[in-house]
Amino acid sequence: MNSISSSSLDYRRVSRHFQRENTIIETRGIAIGGHKIVVMAGPCSVESFCQINELALFIKSTKACILRGGAFKPRSSPYSFRGLGEEGLKMLAHAREMTGLPIVTEVMSPDQVSLVADYSDILQIGTRNMQNFPLLCAVGRTQKPILLKRGMGNTIKELLMAAEYIVDAGNNQVMLCERGIRTFETMTRHTFDINAIPVLKDLTHLPIIADPSHAIGNAQYVPSIARAAIAAGADGIIVEVHMNPSLALSDGEQSLAPEAFCILMHDIEKIAHATGRSL
Ligand code: PEP
Ligand code: MN
Repeated sequence: MNSISSSSLDYRRVSRHFQRENTIIETRGIAIGGHKIVVMAGPCSVESFCQINELALFIKSTKACILRGGAFKPRSSPYSFRGLGEEGLKMLAHAREMTGLPIVTEVMSPDQVSLVADYSDILQIGTRNMQNFPLLCAVGRTQKPILLKRGMGNTIKELLMAAEYIVDAGNNQVMLCERGIRTFETMTRHTFDINAIPVLKDLTHLPIIADPSHAIGNAQYVPSIARAAIAAGADGIIVEVHMNPSLALSDGEQSLAPEAFCILMHDIEKIAHATGRSL
């Protein structure tokens, strides 16, 4: 970290100059950004009542502590499955009641914020909305923790300034998520920017989460990126898991089957211990 004074920075409140100690975000007894590595896991999309319940019970049987699942899906093609909307939110809330797992789900527009906040413990801002400033301000007016994903075409500084919008609007419960950026490489879905992990840990006091699933886009490679992110100092991961990835309505090719997820959890625990953390 260099010696710029915090008031001159475009992302002053999220910077380490403003606050040296790590921000720890709490939701339903889970601390994000503390000593423990946090694993958020679940399907790309909530597909049915049975699907999310079965998966939530499986997630609960592991050391993952937060359930992910999309109800409002930002799809590149309008003909792809776009989520179950409020019905999906109700299914997530039911899965939380059953398991006690807090939930994280995406909100795509300012007019959806109060609805999604009524159901969800953590509001996810997706990569395509990282610079949707009205949306950033709207989630900044809630007191819900925010998972802010890096725009696939945005710099680390732009991610920090987007987080600053949320904090400036009154909500300092923000975690940042590296989920891969667009590069010239076409062999993988995106390029996971491992550099972003130590650089963000240095520049900001906010928790840093890694999303290996959307970064590499292929279940075969997801565990390697997840392990690398934890070794590089991430506070947690968000990872797509499906009981039967070949039947998933979205992102099945990058979703881990239960057995692969269990092996990954075991590996993450070993890496956590090797780096002075726990799971
Ligand atoms: C997701 O989490 O399913 C998602 C759409 O993520 P991203 O915004 O990173 O593509
Ligand atoms: Mn997805």
